[in-house]
Amino acid sequence: MESVKIMQQAVSVLKFGGTSVGSGERIRNVATIIAQVRQETETDFPVVVVSAMSGVTDQLLRIARHACAAEEEAWRQELVVLRQKHLDAAEKIVQSNERRALPRLLDELESGLVSLEHDVQKLAEAATQGEDVALPTAAVASWGERLSIKLVAAAVRDFGVPAEAITQEIIVTTHPDIDPSQPFGVVVGADPLIEETRANAQALVCPLVEQGIVPIAAGFIGRTITGYITTLGRNGSDYSATVIGAALDCSEVSIYTDVDGVLTADPRLVANARLLPRLSYAEAARLSWFGAKVLHPRTFIPIAHRNIPVRVRNTFRPHNRGTVVGPEGPLPSGAGAITIRRNLALITVESTDLFGAPENAGQVFALAARAGAAPVAICSSSGHHLSFVIEEKSADSVIALVQRDMDTTWKVSCRRNLAACACIGSGFTADPMSPARAGTALARERIPVITQGSSEPGITLIVEEKDSERALRSLHRDLIAPVIPLVRHPTAHEKRREAR
Ligand code: ASP
Ligand code: MG
Repeated sequence: MESVKIMQQAVSVLKFGGTSVGSGERIRNVATIIAQVRQETETDFPVVVVSAMSGVTDQLLRIARHACAAEEEAWRQELVVLRQKHLDAAEKIVQSNERRALPRLLDELESGLVSLEHDVQKLAEAATQGEDVALPTAAVASWGERLSIKLVAAAVRDFGVPAEAITQEIIVTTHPDIDPSQPFGVVVGADPLIEETRANAQALVCPLVEQGIVPIAAGFIGRTITGYITTLGRNGSDYSATVIGAALDCSEVSIYTDVDGVLTADPRLVANARLLPRLSYAEAARLSWFGAKVLHPRTFIPIAHRNIPVRVRNTFRPHNRGTVVGPEGPLPSGAGAITIRRNLALITVESTDLFGAPENAGQVFALAARAGAAPVAICSSSGHHLSFVIEEKSADSVIALVQRDMDTTWKVSCRRNLAACACIGSGFTADPMSPARAGTALARERIPVITQGSSEPGITLIVEEKDSERALRSLHRDLIAPVIPLVRHPTAHEKRREAR
């Protein structure tokens, strides 16, 4: 490998998701954020990572399915729509008087669209020949990001800030595991190779940064050492941003999305959910394990051991500081959030031999793992009894394996339609009253607690799925944000009743 110049200047990664670049207007908004960051002296030089325009990856995978099914008419029609979407955005993006800007962008898009059509044809041929379609599908799927980087780069230049799309893949990955029984139109994720990616990222990004040009890189995609296009799997662009950030030793990764940051609860379920300014990596990992959608746990893999913070913030309200996820500080973060993870089943394995039975936890979990089920929470155990919660969809196979492989003194039972309400954060662990308050909150609502997990920093209460939203609201009210009752005026109905 050629020797690579190490990045001299500190950089900060800004990642914009599909909705943030969903239209020409939105891309201009993104460009104003990038231009602003470029001008701020207190922020490090921006390196930008972008997703495909929203809906485009789905569309490319539909195109891939049509191609594999030899439905040429259908994929050609979809390509026309996809082409128009990008050309429309281009027209909105270029507004300055720079004469050659629009023709240059349109040329770049056209040549990309021609290559995309080629890749679709190659995929269709592979499918007719009965060859592997996974890699040619990844090549088709990669075009969402390949096109969006050109739009974003043009928009940034339109604000007078030098910017270039990086057309080569930055992330070097393993060869994905190919499963020939995989349905058509699905991308298989590949894993980034750390050292190779580091050398490649520095080689592609450093020269631009040194010249003061903002690099615009494609999220989601990569290539193998031998040059095949790969992806990091669906919704992999946050992950790709932290992979690229780690490879460049960046100071921070900002993930711009369509929410303000990480909130104390899902705002669709809890009206007064609040923004959490700070979270530790461990808290963020648990939040996503227990159902919070904002961040995928793998996003933290490349950066947590390097202590690089990730800031989640809103593209449409860029002045908000968002939520910083970072290393544990000297003080606990004080964060407290409540999530629901649904579609769970409680498995209980019990021995009829109350006194003689040795601990069989190892065997039970090995069987669960064989059924592809990781325990979501472990609830209780003793020598002759073990209960844990798994995803409902794997319940049948776990039961079947336990019945087949464990000796007959062991009985297995299962309770379905459950959900976990997880209260997570140093805000709870610091307060010894939290478990009591959580219990009371549910008791007051007459919500039975089926069981609870105690191994998490915080409390995991298992309730019936039908009770879970009510449980979430009452826990949030009693543990995080008491609702101050407003002065309530009697309703017309009540007034009438009083008058009677
Ligand atoms: N465009 C890719 C997808 O939709 C990656 C991403 O947006 O995270 O899966
Ligand atoms: Mg997307």
